Amino acid sequence: MVIIDSMSRASVTAIALVLVVPTAYTQSNFDIQRAGMVEEIIRAVEQTSSYTGKLQLDNHVVEAMRTVPRHEFVPIELREISSYLNRPLPIGNGQTISQPYIVALMSDLANISPDSIVLEIGTGSGYQAAVLAKLAKHVYTIEIIEPLGLYASETLDRLKYTNVSVKIGDGYLGWPEYAPFDAIIVTAAPEQIPEPLIQQLKLGGRLVIPVGPKDQAQSLQVLEKTSSGEIQRTDVLPVRFVPFTRK
Ligand code: SAH
Repeated sequence: MVIIDSMSRASVTAIALVLVVPTAYTQSNFDIQRAGMVEEIIRAVEQTSSYTGKLQLDNHVVEAMRTVPRHEFVPIELREISSYLNRPLPIGNGQTISQPYIVALMSDLANISPDSIVLEIGTGSGYQAAVLAKLAKHVYTIEIIEPLGLYASETLDRLKYTNVSVKIGDGYLGWPEYAPFDAIIVTAAPEQIPEPLIQQLKLGGRLVIPVGPKDQAQSLQVLEKTSSGEIQRTDVLPVRFVPFTRK
């Protein structure tokens, strides 16, 4: 048609701009949504302080939650609408990406510093591992469901989280080659705490783990291995996690 034939250079530029704008808008929209999610988490931590003993989140944890793009770890069909809701979301294979408040709280309870070596059991989407990677020197993470582990590993590589190593296997056994760990975070609930994980904790290290039967009340626990090797256990919060499975 005539209109196309006579299209000026200016109108071609205008069309190109129109095509570019929506992506830029979506990106900053995710940033705005993520900032809102972090405010919600900060309030939730304040509201649950009588249970958890945590009056406020550590600044490093807040910063990590502000920077890690949760939408990159959420399935494409949920990405636009649900990435920054303070909720767990399905990631396939019957598993979930944890609620952001729980990710922040567990990261905080683990007392991680920039020189910490951390083990995570239950890689799932890789989101918690990415948050831990912002806080620690290196994160070792184990996933028992192969497709989830492979996909998480690809996502973490694509987003350049170079200080995370993913292994497919049964996390019950820990990762003895890299033990002992400054902190261990378990994101699936066993009925009893796996003994190898306690053994692979450094003196002064912390294990953060939900414990309890499937589909029933579970308790988020923190176990600290004191400098004398004694184990001190604290029940932090009633929680509901997917079950810890064995091969
Ligand atoms: N941290 C994840 C949460 C995933 S849900 C995230 O941020 O997305 C918990 C995960 O633990 C599931 O993917 C489940 O497959 C895994 N899991 C359960 N039992 C396990 C075991 N014995 N070893 C390793 N992973 C396990």
